[in-house]
Amino acid sequence: MQIVKNFIDGEFVDSVEGKTFDKRSPVDNSVIARVAEAGQVDVDRAVRAAQAARNGVWGGLTTDQRVDLLYGVADEITRRFEDFVAAEMADTGQPRHVMTHVFIPRGAANFKVFADVIKNVPTEAFQMATPDGRGALNYGIRVPKGVVGVISPWNAPFLLMTWKVAPALACGNTVVVKPSEETPLTAALLGEVMNKVGIPRGVYNVVNGFGPSSAGEHLTRHPGIDAITFTGETRTGTTIMQAAAQGMRDVSFELGGKNAGIVFADADFDAAVEGIFRSAFLNSGQVCLGTERVYVERPIFERFVAALKQKAEAVKFGRPDDPEANYGPLISDEHRRKVLSYYAKAVEEGATVVTGGGVPDMPAALEQGNWVQPTIWTGLPETAAVVREEVFGPCCHIRPFDTEDEVVNMANDNDYGLSTTIWTTNLARAHRMAGRIEVGITWINSWFLRDLRTAFGGSKQSGIGREGGVHSLEFYTETRNVCVKL
Ligand code: NAD
Repeated sequence: MQIVKNFIDGEFVDSVEGKTFDKRSPVDNSVIARVAEAGQVDVDRAVRAAQAARNGVWGGLTTDQRVDLLYGVADEITRRFEDFVAAEMADTGQPRHVMTHVFIPRGAANFKVFADVIKNVPTEAFQMATPDGRGALNYGIRVPKGVVGVISPWNAPFLLMTWKVAPALACGNTVVVKPSEETPLTAALLGEVMNKVGIPRGVYNVVNGFGPSSAGEHLTRHPGIDAITFTGETRTGTTIMQAAAQGMRDVSFELGGKNAGIVFADADFDAAVEGIFRSAFLNSGQVCLGTERVYVERPIFERFVAALKQKAEAVKFGRPDDPEANYGPLISDEHRRKVLSYYAKAVEEGATVVTGGGVPDMPAALEQGNWVQPTIWTGLPETAAVVREEVFGPCCHIRPFDTEDEVVNMANDNDYGLSTTIWTTNLARAHRMAGRIEVGITWINSWFLRDLRTAFGGSKQSGIGREGGVHSLEFYTETRNVCVKL
């Protein structure tokens, strides 16, 4: 069994109190790792190490020196690609191709993209008139925030964690990361990479554990943390925001979603079916940007439901490295119970179950895993729980619509506002709708196509702030103005 330690001040260390917890495999619930659980003292050590690095060697590097080191991190991740793929497969149980095509390459890309951004973004300058006619010059300088607390979820662990760590370091901050208790492996591996590349000790620290009364809460309440970036559930975000209010720390939040997919009758039918299928079921539906509400224009409704059902029923469950399989389990038994409770609730509320709704038959070796069937419902009112609340599982409800106004109103009638997908060949309509739908990201005739330079974040209860490209610099640096009288 693997032992996962905290990574503090450049060293892998046990927790001072000696506490540990078990990490279980999603595919069969066997224990695959014993993980050190950081207590208050460990978190304090990590924060102090990060402060020392920030005020010491890391703070003294030039931007070019930091950029070179971050390029080195990306290259070392690529060199150890198979180790990262194996760790992320073990943690998440998701198919190998998801790791090799999305999760791990994106992790490496994050370091290069943000190194490039920090190297190339200018700061502002304003000349102003003064009564004596000599004028004054204002210019901005960007300074790092200090020590950034990074709290990340389990659904795309390496990608989402590095999406925050990379810009934070590029800007000259140091970090203390609290990965999800469900997925500790790649954050630990990144510690090895940091040491190999020569990132100074204390710049990147990892404390493992849970949220309340554990590493997460200790970190967010620690007065030495200057800013907190968090991806996870909206409810958790509320708790973290309260902690951040002590000491007026800045927050960046990427939270839950209940995203609408909208398919017009004039859409490229096969592309729309494939796009909605991926957005509802990729990663076993555990994608914040995924589609759990589908609205299909009435003339193609029946045909669309039949086509999506056919694809959902064709998935092949199995282990991540099984070449015959293309579909993984949910992250944990606890999450499976939550998803199955929504499956039961949908039936109670009167749904027609088009497909799925339960647990697939699995061979004996995998029977104990967190498997659930991809599930499609129709026939529910917009007030039903599975139409309003984020399930975060492989499921969607499909409803017919007749007019653009009607579908825009339904898409907006939700507390969340993360993303939407619109499928149509009428681009004038698509652009018009993109301005009306209350979300941070609209995809037209695609889904999950990500240019890392663009603004990423949620509207309404799906988030606070934007990250990505220069937008990340707004959070990870503070701009100071210098006014020079000429
Ligand atoms: P979660 O909120 O349960 O946990 C996320 C992280 O917060 C974990 O590391 C957890 O240990 C920590 N945490 C929990 N309680 C805490 C507390 N009181 N103080 C400090 N830390 C605490 O979320 P999850 O179940 O890991 O992830 C799924 C959720 O994340 C979904 O809602 C999904 O939509 C959302 N998500 C959003 C985005 C986005 O970009 N908007 C991306 C991925 C996931």
